[in-house]
Amino acid sequence: MRTNAHPSARKQVAVNSRIRRRTFLTTTGAIATATAVGDVAYATSHALDNAAYGASEYVDVQLLNITDFHGYLQPTTPSQGSVITGAGGVQVTVGGAGYLATHLKRLREGQRNSIFFSSGDNFNGWPFEVDAHANEPTIEALNALGLQFSTVGNHELDHSVDFLVDHMEKGKPYPVSGRDDNFVDSTGQRFQGANFRFYTANIVHADTGRTIVPPYNIEWVDAGGGRKLPIAFIHLTLVGSEVGSTSYQPGLRSLSDLEQANKLAAQLKKRGVNAIVINIHDGGVAGNDYNAGTNPSGPVFQLAANASPDIAAIVTGHWHCRFNMMVPDPNGVPRPVVEAGNHGSLINEINLKLDPRTGEVIRELTRSTNHANSRDVPLDEELQYIADYWTAQGKKRYATPLARVTADFTRTPNASGESTMGNLAADFAYWDANQHRDGRADLALISVKPVSGSNAVTGDLLFAKGTNPSDVDGTVLFGEAWGAFGYGNPILTVTLPGTQLHAAFEAQWVPQAGGTEKFAPFAVSQNVSYTYDTTKPIGQRVDPATVQINGKPLDLTRDYRVAALAYTLIGGDGTTVFAGFTDPVRNDRDHEGFIAYLRAHPVLTPAPLGRARPVS
Ligand SMILES: [Zn+2]
Repeated sequence: MRTNAHPSARKQVAVNSRIRRRTFLTTTGAIATATAVGDVAYATSHALDNAAYGASEYVDVQLLNITDFHGYLQPTTPSQGSVITGAGGVQVTVGGAGYLATHLKRLREGQRNSIFFSSGDNFNGWPFEVDAHANEPTIEALNALGLQFSTVGNHELDHSVDFLVDHMEKGKPYPVSGRDDNFVDSTGQRFQGANFRFYTANIVHADTGRTIVPPYNIEWVDAGGGRKLPIAFIHLTLVGSEVGSTSYQPGLRSLSDLEQANKLAAQLKKRGVNAIVINIHDGGVAGNDYNAGTNPSGPVFQLAANASPDIAAIVTGHWHCRFNMMVPDPNGVPRPVVEAGNHGSLINEINLKLDPRTGEVIRELTRSTNHANSRDVPLDEELQYIADYWTAQGKKRYATPLARVTADFTRTPNASGESTMGNLAADFAYWDANQHRDGRADLALISVKPVSGSNAVTGDLLFAKGTNPSDVDGTVLFGEAWGAFGYGNPILTVTLPGTQLHAAFEAQWVPQAGGTEKFAPFAVSQNVSYTYDTTKPIGQRVDPATVQINGKPLDLTRDYRVAALAYTLIGGDGTTVFAGFTDPVRNDRDHEGFIAYLRAHPVLTPAPLGRARPVS
């Protein structure tokens, strides 16, 4: 608590009581109520405190945040979120690391204490040039932008914890079959790793219970006269990231974000840290205006309603939403709850004023703004050079010959739902699982026409040359292979009882409303064949005796090790038939694994169809 010995503290107490009296008749509550109150309080504190705000006795701290950058180094397109809506429905075109650098430079001008951080999902980069270079381009750009730290987003776990720590942070080579790394960056240097560190307080190793990276960091700000004051950032990750499709990591588990936040806030407070910020990769939604907030909902607002009043601000990500709100803490005192969009669309700026003696945040003087990363400023040459360098590298990598095909692999299905491309994908998954000692599988299944959701089989591998100038007949380019299969998911090997595996074969025919049915076939690996009878009722169409796996009929009394994409196994395809699988083992990610498969099978010939056949 502040004492009344200090003039600024006395002034502050007065401000506090005025704000509380005028706006906080209730301190509990429903988010909707809380929001309305928060908005009023925000406006009120601005009106009241212009004199106090400029007072030099406080220590000014600027927090700058981006989130869900996802490797969008180049200016984005409309489909990538380049047009955002501001006050009064005004549309602003945003995005691009080159503009981001300029805006950051301007925002930092004249700030003694400026801290720039991310709320996670810096990668995976979805742009090909970033994804196919092991996310190293994103690290080079974030280093150049001066990023200081980041929470772990779910996508930071898309490869592995070792990849995150050893490769992304430390720059050590981390070769995985099909994935190359430690590329030469735009300065001619081999990849050196991030100049910043990752943190999370609620993702732990399942065996030891230890967090995968440190849970929080403390930054020291200049309070003048050679004194420093601490600000702690508690980092939190989407609960359940370890069972999400892309970030499926069997060795990890999540702890409650709220419990970890409150526990650490209490510990930090006890240690004398009086300024604490939550940096969480979870999120919410609160209307369209990127610099305001209405009708908030989502997990970050639940957290905000319950997180310790010792926390001065909550910065979030993951939902790719844009809002800037002041939401009352459990004591009714407003604090920023903000999300700065995605793909470099916004920079959130929070201005804290600290009591120079105690380091406490003078909460009523907190301000928060979401700034559009608009394109009406000059491009920063260094960042645009980095972006252009990697775009050019991406083009080269795309055009690298990878393998040969002697005929077309296409997604065109026969009556049994089989296609040469689908079978190739299933053969790849089976091969990939069996490259891993713990991943060994009896068979592989790949969904080629999901009930709902995305399809991992995204392209054909045609014999005829494509439009790329480097292509010739029969050649598969690196980029063509990358684009033909995968959406960034790992191949998992899991255990299913024989009865459940049989149910998976039956689940290819899905009853629909109105008595119709939908055919949602799986491609099976080359060591599997079966017959089906569509004249029979759904659920009785595949006789287990006709299902041959490695030359033996499907045995309903034994367990099978089955390889499939995580997305399919966790129900992303709209089927629950795999629910309850056990002993998951993570093999390679689809893109890199498929590249490895083609490197190991440099000449591919489509096998005749016929793994699934109608009975008559
Ligand atoms: Zn995310």
